[in-house]
Amino acid sequence: MKNKKDYKIEILAIGSELLTPYYQDTNSLYLTERFNDLGMEVFYKTIVGDDWDNLVLSIKQALDKSNLIVGMGGLGPTKDDRTREAFATVLQRKLIFKKTILKKIEERFNRRKLSMPAVNKKQAYIINGAEVLENRNGTAPGLWLDTGTKIIILLPGPPHELKPMFESSVWTRLQNFRTDYSVRKILKITGLTESKIETLLTDLYPREPGLKITTLAYPGQIEIHITSHSKQSQDLAEKKTQKLIKNILKRLKENVFSTSGEELEAVIGRLLKHKTKTLATAESCTGGFLGHRITNVPGSSNYFLHGVVTYSNNAKMNNLGVPSDLIEKHGAVSSQVAEAMAKGIREKAQASFGLAITGIAGPTGGTPEKPVGLVYTALAWDKETEVSKNLFLGNRETIKFQSSQKALDMLRRHLFKFHISKED
Ligand code: AMP
Ligand code: MG
Repeated sequence: MKNKKDYKIEILAIGSELLTPYYQDTNSLYLTERFNDLGMEVFYKTIVGDDWDNLVLSIKQALDKSNLIVGMGGLGPTKDDRTREAFATVLQRKLIFKKTILKKIEERFNRRKLSMPAVNKKQAYIINGAEVLENRNGTAPGLWLDTGTKIIILLPGPPHELKPMFESSVWTRLQNFRTDYSVRKILKITGLTESKIETLLTDLYPREPGLKITTLAYPGQIEIHITSHSKQSQDLAEKKTQKLIKNILKRLKENVFSTSGEELEAVIGRLLKHKTKTLATAESCTGGFLGHRITNVPGSSNYFLHGVVTYSNNAKMNNLGVPSDLIEKHGAVSSQVAEAMAKGIREKAQASFGLAITGIAGPTGGTPEKPVGLVYTALAWDKETEVSKNLFLGNRETIKFQSSQKALDMLRRHLFKFHISKED
């Protein structure tokens, strides 16, 4: 290649399942992101099924249009996996049997006390001239072939095999192709609207080339994506980003809950662990979603003690000790009941904090006084409680998410305040 910039990248996703409504080609998103990290652009993405003629045609066309081709999928042991064969045919290269690869595949089966099925033998063939990319998470090895005019990379389809292979074997090889250094950061925010953020940051939007901010708004969360590029060094790209993040944090303050891509449940987990505090939850309209999010974090057993779904009035009374007259007087969706639920679960679980949610997720069940999206979230600690009245918009699913987000955020802000005042 004359110049690094002359690379035209094409990603060829192979597999008939990718042409059905049930599977998505997610690998190419990941690969595109990684190529962009090197300052390289993807020119074409193609999806082709397992049919031999179509596959051969797509490979021919890819070789006509592009000079760096990533083919993925179809390296498996079954009859419909013919990526290796199709590339070899188009490139007019032989497939060569490699005993060392076969041994590795056999060993993989032996470790599971299984004998290797005969069909796996075909995975031990490589295209003549190709380098083998080891697969630590499956049987299909990948291939790297430099023909002098084209680079061809073949990777297995399953994402949990493709990604580690790319990171361990392809990434280092691609460093020679780098035209650019880049850094990507994601700031996650709660408690501010997109327009408020826009107003607070408008004069900070970078004018210099190579530094870009994009704001993405989701119900209950706003993200600021920052990308920074430098022709000179990684360090320079990093420095540009850090300076911008510092200025953004000065404006948005504690509304930013993460600068490292962490989810809110991971942030509260870290804070609880750090302070050796514990948590229990009582949920009504979220049906356990809050507990689900909390327990998605590895190590949550260190601080999460107990979670209950108290959907009916009886459940709220029997499990949490919510007084029946409170429900009768104010209704199950009320500030008073939310407070009693948070206190009730905190006491029952003997936890440092109790978090509770009660609301109307819709689409039915709303009234003019208590519309769909009315959700009370409550946090109980020591002898105190804080209740928040929220009016969320959206469908059942987004209302449930926003409710859990608000509850987690109440706890985060409480822990954060405590954290600051303790350190001051
Ligand atoms: P294969 O390498 O063709 O045996 O692919 C095995 C499995 O990997 C498929 O059933 C898919 O679940 C997954 N897979 C293949 N290609 C892709 C892709 N482009 N994106 C995401 N998953 C994929
Ligand atoms: Mg396949």
